[in-house]
Parts: sequence; C-alpha cells; structure tokens
Amino acid sequence: MIIGVPTEIKTREYRVALTPVGARALVEDGHEVRVQSGAGLGSGIDDQAYREVGAEIVDEAADIFAASELLVKVKEPLEKECARLRRGQILMTFLHLAPAPELTRALLDAGVTAVAYETIEPADGSLPLLRPMSEVAGRMAVQVGAHYLQKENGGRGVLLSGAPGVPPGRVLILGAGVVGSNAVRIAVGMGADVTVMDIDPARMARLDDHYGNRVRTLMSSTHALEEEVPHCDLLIGAVLVPGARAPRLVGRDLVRRMIPGSVVVDVAVDQGGCVETTHPTTHDQPVYRVGDVLHYGVANMPGAVSRTSTYALTNSTLPYVRAIASQGLAAACQKDEALRRGVNIHDGQLCNRPVAEALNLEY
Ligand code: NAD
Repeated sequence: MIIGVPTEIKTREYRVALTPVGARALVEDGHEVRVQSGAGLGSGIDDQAYREVGAEIVDEAADIFAASELLVKVKEPLEKECARLRRGQILMTFLHLAPAPELTRALLDAGVTAVAYETIEPADGSLPLLRPMSEVAGRMAVQVGAHYLQKENGGRGVLLSGAPGVPPGRVLILGAGVVGSNAVRIAVGMGADVTVMDIDPARMARLDDHYGNRVRTLMSSTHALEEEVPHCDLLIGAVLVPGARAPRLVGRDLVRRMIPGSVVVDVAVDQGGCVETTHPTTHDQPVYRVGDVLHYGVANMPGAVSRTSTYALTNSTLPYVRAIASQGLAAACQKDEALRRGVNIHDGQLCNRPVAEALNLEY
C-alpha cells in the first residue's frame, strides 16, 4: 500500500503521525511510505531520519494526498486538505466529528473512508488512542504547576519538594483516572505532599496499593473539597464524566479562599473545567489570575512536548496503521472490533451512530 504522511498545518500543531520507527516497520511490511519534507521537524525528526529507514521524502503536500491509498495524520484535515482528498482513500487521524458538521460534510462529499483515533474502542470501553495524551497531560500538570509556583512566574514561591527543615508544597489532585494518577506519579517523584480525591473507591484503592501512605486518598465530597482546597499550593483538575461536561467541583467562592499565589492547573478544561473560574487558554498566553490565584487552562497541553507526544501517540496508532495497510480495512475490522468502531465514514457513508445523532444525519 502507498502510505502518506503530510506535514500538519493546523496552527501550533508540531506532532507528526509517523516516526522513523513506524516508517521502518511499514517499509519492512512491504509498503511504500511517503513523508512530506519537514513533517517531523516540530518533533525533532529530520527528513534524513525517514530516508534512512526507506521512506521517500516528498516536497509537496498535494503530491502526498494525490498518491496515497492510506493517509496518516494527527489532526483533522483543514479545508485546504479536504479539497485534496479523493474517493477511495483511507484517512486515519483525530477527527472529533460530532461537533463538526462542515468537516463531516466535506469528508462525506470527498467519498473517503475516515478512521477516527478517538473512537477506536475495545470492548472494555477504554480509549487506547486518547490514553497516551492523558498520560502526557497528567505528568505535565505537575511540571507546569511547579513552574508557575515560582515567584518570578507569579506564584507564591513554593518549591514542591520543600527543603531540609521546610515542609513540601501541597498538591491536591481532583480525579484519580489516567490524568490524575499520572499527576500523582510526578508529584510523588518531586517529593510533594500529595492528596488525591475521586468518587470511585476502586481508583483510589489502586493508588493506595501502589503508594501506601505516601499519598492521601480522599472520597470527594463538597465537605472534603471545602476542607482541602483552601490549603493547597497546587490544585490539579483531572475529573471526567464520559460524554458530559466536567462536574464543577470548585466554585468561585472556594477559589477566593485559596492561598494567594497558589496555582490551579485545570486539565479538564477541554470538557469545560472542574473549577468554576477556569477558562481555556493557549500556549501563547497560558495563565491568567483570578484574585491572587494563578489559573492555567491550556486545552492541548501535550502540544508543548511535541516530541514526547509524537512518540506516545504513534506507539498506540502504529499497530492499527499496520493492520489496515497489511490486511486491508475490511479484514482488519473483521478481526478487531475496536478498529471497526473507529471507522466513522466508509466510502462516503457515515457509519458512527453518535456522530450521526449529534449532527442529525442519516446513519
Ligand atoms: P479518566 O476517565 O481516566 O478519569 C477521570 C476520573 O474522574 C475518574 O477516576 C472518575 O471517577 C473521576 N470523577 C468523575 N466525577 C468525579 C467527581 N464528581 N469527583 C471526583 N472525581 C470524579 O479521564 P482522564 O483521561 O484522566 O481525563 C481527565 C480530563 O482531562 C478529561 O476531561 C480529558 O479530556 C482531559 N484531558 C485534557 C488534556 C489537556 O491538554 N488539557 C489532555 C488530555 C486529557
């Protein structure tokens, strides 16, 4: 199969959909891999690294789109890219079609088959292609929080580890899922005083088994939040109710009671945030103040660590890319129900029920 990897053109998207490791595996599987010149640069991968594993470097995106049977991307195609898609092509990427009627129409009109990373779902309900980005964001949350706690960055001047004779900083993590447990890992590693709250006892039991009394776990409740939030240096929002807006756990009044110079990193901002005073920000202007409390609300945190994110994402996408390339989409989907759920559009026909329902389109 001819597999094409165009350079991502969405603003500030530095990831690339295939690393040289992936390109090598596909070449060894007998496929032709074409990578647009410069596609890997944002992740620190130069053209030569792809050439060395047998991929061809192509200058123009138009040539990649025209020749590829399978197009592998990171973000949804923009208007210019949609115009280049052609009937019969398979496109694999993050799509998020439910809130995107124009993109959905463009893909249907183009007659492509579109596999959305975010809907590849095994029977256990996990989302293996979203998970790596939550892992990255959870780990970053503590790093970012530690940065903004420094005095020159606007914080109260607290070092999370403390110092001999000085107690460590207090980190409160709301949610013990993928983001939360990865934040716990880094906060513990930094030597902070860590408390994590959730409503799912099983999630907290896992952390308790792993960290023992190095981490405090607390059943989340209005009472517990009122007790804990006013005393933390760093508050990390990491809750999720699948398919719904993030529950508002920390209201404006409680934020007012926080320590001056403390920091909120609301990772759940992409679902509306779990702190009332959170709003989305960008990497250009990541923080703002509400009273004396610094808020960080970047909705695509992994973008700041594009190299790590590229490798984390492609580790998870590559097995699916290889399966489609080697077996063909129909056979690969027959073998793997999770991949079948990832197919949102097949030959110009919508085949994902939640997307069809969200957009009021025929399924
Ligand atoms: P997850 O499902 O693994 O974990 C969510 C946790 O929240 C669960 O343990 C759940 O029990 C808990 N929870 C739900 N309601 C709660 C409540 N009322 N009180 C306390 N805990 C509650 O989800 P995740 O993968 O960890 O993702 C968390 C959020 O981070 C999502 O909104 C996700 O989209 C977002 N995210 C943001 C970025 C970013 O760049 N900002 C990156 C990745 C993920």
